[in-house]
Amino acid sequence: MTSTSAAAASRSHPASASTSTSASAPASAARPRPGSTVLGHPRQGADRELKKAVEGYWKGRVTADALRETAAGLRRDTWRRLADSGLDEVPTGDFSYYDHVLDTSVMVGAIPARHRAAVEADPLDGYFAMARGAQDVAPLEMTKWFDTNYHYLVPELGPDTVFTADSAKQVAELREALALGHTARPVLVGPVTYLLLAKPAPGVAADFEPLTLLDRLLPVYAEVLADLRAAGAAWVQLDEPALVQDRTRAELNALARAYRDLGALTDRPQLLVASYFDRLGEALPVLVRAPVDGLALDFTGPASVNLTDLAAVGGLPGKRLVAGVVDGRNVWINDLAASLTTLATLLGLADRVDVSTSCSLLHVPLDSAAERDLDPQLTRWLAFARQKTDEVVTLARGLGRGTDTVAARLAANRADLASRASSAITRDPAVRARSVAVTDADVRRDQPYAERTVAQQTRLGLPPLPTTTIGSFPQTDELRTARAALRAGRLDEAGYDERIEAEIREVVSFQEKAGLDVLVHGEPERNDMVQYFAERLTGYLATRHGWVQSYGTRYVRPPILAGDISRPAPMTVATTAYAQSLTNRPVKGMLTGPVTMLAWSFVRDDQPLGETARQVALALRDEVADLEAAGTAVIQVDEPALRETLPLRAADRPAYLEWATEAFRLTTAGVRPDTQIHTHMCYAEFGDILRAIDDLDADVISLEAARSHMRVADELAAARYPREAGPGVYDIHSPRVPSAEEMTVLLGTALEAIPARRLWVNPDCGLKTRGWAEVRTSLENLVAAARTVRGRFS
Ligand code: GLN
Ligand code: ZN
Repeated sequence: MTSTSAAAASRSHPASASTSTSASAPASAARPRPGSTVLGHPRQGADRELKKAVEGYWKGRVTADALRETAAGLRRDTWRRLADSGLDEVPTGDFSYYDHVLDTSVMVGAIPARHRAAVEADPLDGYFAMARGAQDVAPLEMTKWFDTNYHYLVPELGPDTVFTADSAKQVAELREALALGHTARPVLVGPVTYLLLAKPAPGVAADFEPLTLLDRLLPVYAEVLADLRAAGAAWVQLDEPALVQDRTRAELNALARAYRDLGALTDRPQLLVASYFDRLGEALPVLVRAPVDGLALDFTGPASVNLTDLAAVGGLPGKRLVAGVVDGRNVWINDLAASLTTLATLLGLADRVDVSTSCSLLHVPLDSAAERDLDPQLTRWLAFARQKTDEVVTLARGLGRGTDTVAARLAANRADLASRASSAITRDPAVRARSVAVTDADVRRDQPYAERTVAQQTRLGLPPLPTTTIGSFPQTDELRTARAALRAGRLDEAGYDERIEAEIREVVSFQEKAGLDVLVHGEPERNDMVQYFAERLTGYLATRHGWVQSYGTRYVRPPILAGDISRPAPMTVATTAYAQSLTNRPVKGMLTGPVTMLAWSFVRDDQPLGETARQVALALRDEVADLEAAGTAVIQVDEPALRETLPLRAADRPAYLEWATEAFRLTTAGVRPDTQIHTHMCYAEFGDILRAIDDLDADVISLEAARSHMRVADELAAARYPREAGPGVYDIHSPRVPSAEEMTVLLGTALEAIPARRLWVNPDCGLKTRGWAEVRTSLENLVAAARTVRGRFS
């Protein structure tokens, strides 16, 4: 299947087939002409000015006034740019100094007790204290925003929470936009999603359900809505992405109540309820019946079933439909003709149809035109925030005035799509032939674990409770300086390699002295565990300015997985072999697994994810083979993203876990029985993927456990996990040095669940963010703890 037909197939549906060309007929005079909008926009500015201003403020180099001025300037520029592109309505209130969910907590007065004094003393400093913590005061917990790589601050609520309305930020930003002459639509996190994202505050019973606070929260939303109307808002967007997850009947009832009450308000703007990231499912009929004035729906990818679902419930008579046909979270150009087909069908389903992105553009970089180092033949396939805005405007024009008014754009788009579909980058016959030829035997190891472990024990000769680390050692300033110098041309490759080898010597010698059993080279050459491999695999693109907010002032530049993946040369063999040449103890080879390579990149949308994962797995499989051939007896394939990539709806999870675990096994199953495969994941909650962890068929798994008091060990035991495991005993997220005694206690707890011959001793995760001083003592203590416990068995 070519990429264009794949994209068309994913969007086609029975209802649109008969209307495929009707988009060329302008809409009738009676109905409003389709408008254009986006659901939200990146906040950082073209040069990440916001990051600089906020961090400068934290360091005392930027005053509060200067920070506010920078922020206002960025909002002004964003709106102007959107309006200049031809957008009819701009979003406001989606700007944030740190996080929009935290802004919502401020808006409804849900300030945790421990932060109240700080917020009262200085709202801005108190805000940052909630986000980042202060001396002895913990910040709010942070977690992933649905299945994106954006992280929000989790609201903390309890039965005693008293909500109070503070609409100041929303009102001020709306006024700014109106004063500049824009048609503006404030964006709020909806009340149901806000409560569903919250968790019980510290000290509140764990089974407390924040959604029980709905009746208390709605009057606060009513007040904010009234204030926004008074300030001139015609429409307000209420984001309810939590509705695309599986919801209980009780939650759907709460949803119905929420919008019945808000809809019944007399003093309010028109309400647009937005959902995105997946299909609405059971929540769709609830929202269709609710007395709100419009819905914004996602019509991209798997969410495009929203179209048939909407038709099935009779559409949105009398209401506004904001049609998210431009994918707000990938980096690829839209198939404009296919979108026009979808839109033409939608015209028959609502009174007013506007064209939009599927979700906020927060999740994509700003402007692909800034990527001057990329081959222009590749840039034409890319659409970042700016290009997506243009696509929305083009589609609205084509829909409203006829496709002939955008004929040139459509022709260019067709050519761009064709160039992508037929490119040697997206179609590498050798890669495709190999992928098709994968057999069952390729994804299965020759011997079962019970037999392999005997062979591995003979080869490795490890003591019981062997000690190891997760891979990285501290990334020192010298390493970062050397990398910067290499990039700037001040240091040549040879000089840089020398610097890396020196670091490896130090890391290996430390581990030998500390008495660790399975050593690592320390990953000094890796800036980032995905980017390092992406830069070495054909089919991946790197951007220079493609920054996307991860959380607060942290931005990442995800690589773009654009084409068929192959490995022109070994990627890690030289560093691993060098480390092994320095010691008689086994050195563990370290790779990033296929699922994580996908999860932390922008992936192609022209073939199933499972196929892309398989290509990455095949490239990594060659790396595993080369490591083994070079004498590596232990190879770790990290999959920290396995769980976070779980589809939002339970029904979609088995298929995902199937291809994900198969890709891991394809990466690792080609080795000899006496080569030991490790994997690593860093989270303490994975009850829902235990089966999948077993399906990986790794010999050893290391997991995060120190903070959760070894709960994972119990979970593994309860699931009868049959292989070796290293629940972390050293919390690497804190600079604190754990004592040998406390790690001994943790190992004792672990031993209640995992027998000694299958228990490994290791930290929770890699050490790259820590300092050498803490790492040294912590690892010495870790080895001491292992020895103490071993002593009990001999
Ligand atoms: N091997 C990687 C490291 O040690 C693993 C990082 C991770 O799990 N996120 O840094
Ligand atoms: Zn980790």
